[in-house]
Amino acid sequence: MIQSLHHASQGKKMKNPKFGKSRFLGFFMLCKIVFEFAILAIVKPMPATIFTSRCFLVVICFSLIFVSGTLFSQPPSSPRILCSVFPVFLITREIASGTNGVVDLFVPSNFGCPHDYSLTPGDIQNFQKADLVIFNGLGFEPFLDRISKDQNKAIFIDCSQKIEFLPDSLATQKPNPHIFTTPNGLLQMAENVTTELSKIFPQNSSQYRFNFRGFSERLRKVESAWRAVAKELASVSVVLTHSSEDYLAKDLGLSVIARIEIGHEEEISPRELMNLIKLIQREKPRAVLVDDQHASKILETVFNETRIPLLRLNFFSSGEKSSSSEYIEATFLENIRRLKMLLSKTRHFDSQ
Ligand SMILES: [Zn+2]
Ligand SMILES: [Zn+2]
Repeated sequence: MIQSLHHASQGKKMKNPKFGKSRFLGFFMLCKIVFEFAILAIVKPMPATIFTSRCFLVVICFSLIFVSGTLFSQPPSSPRILCSVFPVFLITREIASGTNGVVDLFVPSNFGCPHDYSLTPGDIQNFQKADLVIFNGLGFEPFLDRISKDQNKAIFIDCSQKIEFLPDSLATQKPNPHIFTTPNGLLQMAENVTTELSKIFPQNSSQYRFNFRGFSERLRKVESAWRAVAKELASVSVVLTHSSEDYLAKDLGLSVIARIEIGHEEEISPRELMNLIKLIQREKPRAVLVDDQHASKILETVFNETRIPLLRLNFFSSGEKSSSSEYIEATFLENIRRLKMLLSKTRHFDSQ
C-alpha cells in the first residue's frame, strides 16, 4: 500500500477533467477574439502607419494567447486539500495558510489513532471531492487502501517520505507510524508537506516556504525545551503501554524496562498482567507512560498493585479541528511539563 501511494505521490501531474473543460473554453474564447481582430486589422484598407501599428497589436495579441495558454493550464484556483488525520491537518493548515487551498480533515480530530477506522460510503464521496490527499503514511491509515483503488483522481502526498522510522513494537517487519509524536518528527513531516505542495502549486511555493520557516522557528523553541528535559531524563526508567510512545522514549533517551500494548484489539492476558506487575514491583520504574486516548482499567490495576504513577501524554488525540495554530506547541509543552514530573521525588503525579 505504502509503496503504491508513494509512487502516486511522485511526479504525478495535476490531471483532473473537472478543470480541463473550463480551461479549454476560456482559451478558445480568447483565440476567437484575437483571430477576429487580426482579420479586421489586415483586411480593412488603411494608411501604412496604422497598418504597421495594427500588425504590432496583432503580434501582442498572439503572445497573449501563448501566455494565457500557460496560465489556463495551472491547477485549480482553490484546491481542496484533504488531510487524513489530525496531526497532518494541523501541519498542513500551517503550511497552506495565506494561500487559496481549502484544508480539511478526514478522520475526526478526537478520534485518535485511525488504525481501526472503517470507511462509510459518505467518506468515499469526501475523497472523491478532494484534489489532494495528504496522509501520515507508514501504514497509519489502512483505510486508504480502499480509497486509492476506488478512485485515484486526487494526488496523494505521503508525509513520512525519507523519515527514519522505528519498527513496530508488535510486528517488527512493520514500521511504527507514530512519527508525529516528537517535535522533530512533526517538523520533518511539515517539511515534506512544504516540498510536495511546492511541486504541485509552484505559484504558492514562496508562501509555503515562508510559512514553513515561521513554523520551524516556533517548533525549534519547543525542541530546545524538549532537549533540555531530555538531558535530565536520560536513562530514567519507564514502562511503555502503547506504540505511540516509542519515538518519544527513544528521543528522550528513556530506559524502557517493559512494554505492553493497550488499546485497539490487542489483549493482555491475566498471566501477562501478573508478570508485568511483578516486573514493575522489582524494577521500580519512575512511571508508566500512558497514551491519553488509551487510558484503561488494566492500567488502573497496574497502578493499584504497584503504586507506580501513570504519566498521561497527549499525542494530538483530543484536540478540536478549530484549535488555534498554537495548539501544536501547547501540546508538546504540556507533555514536557508532565515529563518533568518524572524528575520530582514525590510520587503523586498520577492525578493530573
Ligand atoms: Zn496509534
Ligand atoms: Zn492507538
